[in-house]
Amino acid sequence: MNLFFRSFRSSSAGNCLAFWTADSSILVDCGVQTLGDCRAIVHGQQDRHGPLDGVLVTHAHGDHLGGPAARVLAEAGVVAYAHRDAVPQLRARLGKAGADGRALRPFPGERFTLGEFDVEAIRLPHAPGVATFGFVLRVGHGSRRRKVVVCTDLHDASAVAPHLEGADFVFVEANHDPELLRRHPNPNSRYHLSNGKTAALLCRAVEDGRCSPGRVVLGHLSERRNRDSLATGEVEDAFARRGLDMPFALETAPKFEPSRTIGIE
Ligand SMILES: [Zn+2]
Repeated sequence: MNLFFRSFRSSSAGNCLAFWTADSSILVDCGVQTLGDCRAIVHGQQDRHGPLDGVLVTHAHGDHLGGPAARVLAEAGVVAYAHRDAVPQLRARLGKAGADGRALRPFPGERFTLGEFDVEAIRLPHAPGVATFGFVLRVGHGSRRRKVVVCTDLHDASAVAPHLEGADFVFVEANHDPELLRRHPNPNSRYHLSNGKTAALLCRAVEDGRCSPGRVVLGHLSERRNRDSLATGEVEDAFARRGLDMPFALETAPKFEPSRTIGIE
């Protein structure tokens, strides 16, 4: 199974991740703020990797699905799927752009299939009253089956920890550095994982011996309250302090532009 990943945006200004195989292609969120940028991503993915099987929407904040993106997806005939608790919140936020019942639909179940992807939604604790979900994606069969965990926008990682078992690839937010947050206060940061919480999640998952992903990508870094080197450094230091080998390659997703394409081994 050749499975690939690319991040198109990853910050509070916009979030959009892509996963694809030879025969199937999905996005997780499409929080791209202009029609032109959104068309470039949607049409670019479709030209290179075939029709999009759908967009999985994590929650109803505008940096994950906004009006322009909803319009472009509807034009392209691409369905956005969100949890049944998040759909009314998205419709309220998107107004006219979210009114098309065919373009924005609830997940068919807690576990469902989108193209070649088996999707499991995980409820995440984020901002009060905002129904928020991460995803476990499974694709392929037998020894070539791959497991991906995507979790962004959460303040407590305990809901995610059990799902990391057997993951081959993890995308997790590392939103802020506490010292930079102290210098640049933002009340909304409390709804996100600090670098230290993300590092502790990864250490615990590896420590218990059941999680050894090949690669971890840290995302949704705050522009003013984090830096790439602080986020990756915190994870590396946490493993070193515990005397643990870090079994995965580690990198951050660019905030405002596309990442390179990563093959998920
Ligand atoms: Zn959010």
